[in-house]
Amino acid sequence: MTQNLFEKPAVTLLGLGAMGTALARAWLAAGHPLTVWNRTPARTAPLAAEGARVADSAAEAVAANTLVVICLLDDASVDEALADADLTGRDLVNLTTTTPAQARARAEWTEGRGARYLDGGIMAVPPMVGVPEAGGYVFYSGSRHLFERHRTTLTVPVGTTYVGEDAGFAALHDVALLSAMYGMFAGATHAFALIREEDIDPTAFAPLLADWLVAMAPSVHLTAARLRSGDHSGDVVSSLAMQVAGIPTFVTTAEQQGVSPELLAPCFALMRRGLTERNGEEDLTGLADLLLR
Ligand code: NDP
Repeated sequence: MTQNLFEKPAVTLLGLGAMGTALARAWLAAGHPLTVWNRTPARTAPLAAEGARVADSAAEAVAANTLVVICLLDDASVDEALADADLTGRDLVNLTTTTPAQARARAEWTEGRGARYLDGGIMAVPPMVGVPEAGGYVFYSGSRHLFERHRTTLTVPVGTTYVGEDAGFAALHDVALLSAMYGMFAGATHAFALIREEDIDPTAFAPLLADWLVAMAPSVHLTAARLRSGDHSGDVVSSLAMQVAGIPTFVTTAEQQGVSPELLAPCFALMRRGLTERNGEEDLTGLADLLLR
């Protein structure tokens, strides 16, 4: 395991699904010696042809290199894969999507087995991996020392954004951003349903929708500033009361277009609750606090 000064750091990668395969190809293309393992061995063949060393077991792959990157389906598959591996002295970087609590527990579990731990949440889809201009990156949290130690190698497939020593923070950032994305998907799905039965070409409608979503996206900065200051009432341009007054327009239009309001209804219910529990002159920005239990 001694490293030649001119050689790129060696990487072990557990998991060759869609994401793992993309990561593997990026490291191979950049000249990193790579040892791979996958539960279903057939998936390793194309990477072996591209220069990867294939381990017969996860334990063997872990034994091969200090840096062990894990990209499996879920937390349970990490348990299963690492059951027989000796982790002593290893640097585990877990890119498997988990909850923050699972990431924190995995950090403790790893350190209890004599290894160091860094958690990651991937903000990219496989075609963005190895394509720097695509803008993909991974949130990292946990050992800052480990992050700095492997930063150059970890930056090869996609960018890196370190968000703190708390091992759960990468997963929390990941889930938070994806939750916002699902809200956007919900709104776009409803919008397309509204025009679905009309003589409106969805491909002509899509650029209008995309531009509108992009124009509205910077509103998150105002939300953040108001949440930090606690002032939701100064310089309000679209008050909660005004927006609640508009709800019947959206519900009636949905009804008249034969569209279920089920995706928008929870948002409208929260806005109405805001009117009774907060203040109608406020911005919508105060609603985040209403969601806290
Ligand atoms: P895939 O479904 O393509 O691959 C899953 C991988 O996990 C395979 O290598 C599979 O092995 C392995 N696996 C599943 N169960 C077990 C188990 N019990 N024991 C051992 N290995 C197991 O998923 P992806 O590669 O796309 O995703 C991997 C991780 O990356 C996930 O956590 C996902 O959330 C995350 N991610 C994926 C993105 C994407 O767009 N694909 C985007 C961002 C994050 P086998 O081949 O034997 O089935």
